[in-house]
Amino acid sequence: INKGQEITSEILNRIVEKNRHYTTQGKVADYIPELGKANPSKIGIAVVNAQGKVISSGDVSEKFTIQSISKIIALMIAVQENGEENLYKKLGYFGTDQPFNHFGNLDNNGKPLNPMMNAGAIVTTASIQGEGDLGYQKILAMIRYITKNSAINLNEKVYLSEKETGHRNRGMFHILKNSGLIEGTEDKLDNYFKQCSIEVTAVDLAKIGYFFANNGTRFDGDTTYKNIEIARLIQSQMLTAGMYEFSGEYSRTVGLPSKSGVGGGITVSVPHKMGIGVYSPALDEHGNSLAGYQMIVELSKLYDLSIF
Ligand code: GLN
Repeated sequence: INKGQEITSEILNRIVEKNRHYTTQGKVADYIPELGKANPSKIGIAVVNAQGKVISSGDVSEKFTIQSISKIIALMIAVQENGEENLYKKLGYFGTDQPFNHFGNLDNNGKPLNPMMNAGAIVTTASIQGEGDLGYQKILAMIRYITKNSAINLNEKVYLSEKETGHRNRGMFHILKNSGLIEGTEDKLDNYFKQCSIEVTAVDLAKIGYFFANNGTRFDGDTTYKNIEIARLIQSQMLTAGMYEFSGEYSRTVGLPSKSGVGGGITVSVPHKMGIGVYSPALDEHGNSLAGYQMIVELSKLYDLSIF
């Protein structure tokens, strides 16, 4: 164990090479047709260390869609605007044993189990105030702020592909609307499709991980959105459900609040310390990046990063 020692790019290079073979064992998501075009051999890892410095290895300039990782940003904004207590009248703090898009991710009263699965995330996004695409614009602006990367934008093709084939999400939206958990038009669902289609890199994800790990302080020290309560809430939700039905086992093997997306990214917060972002689009059976997960396991073990 290198506990307390600095993470270097040499170490990250070694981790990438050692885990590269996993890229051939997973499968790129193709239920959203446009995602199926990703190159499964891509692999990269980025760390923003406690000093806010970026260290990386592999395909860290490669762009991919953020997908479900956007759910933590939407949650942050929905809590800022509505307060945690009000928002969680419509959501639970539960984990799940079902896949991310399963209709069983609702409790006995029809409330989504948590904001990390699709059902809860659709409610979260719909709770962000404003007509039309304003909710989406707020999410995009927050991601640009956290990463200090104003070039971040929507991947139009992925967005249209999601919108066209997102029948499960559309079905869930209407069930939730029927239960009175969502107000407003299908624009609210469209904002969900759009937030999932925002393009980022592994470096951007590491900066997002750093932001929540450090109570809302940006990697360059900016404290505009510093908020300990919101950072605690979001990291706890990442830990219990951020890796979907794999979250329990992931807590055992990695022990860090993390959020994955079917685009192949995972963002990790090492509380009070740093952020990690990985990318590799070949996924395991839960919809988590296979090589990405293996790299995080290794880094966590090497530096004893688990919170437990
Ligand atoms: N846009 C994807 C969906 O709603 C996000 C899912 C994910 O990343 N797990 O199906």
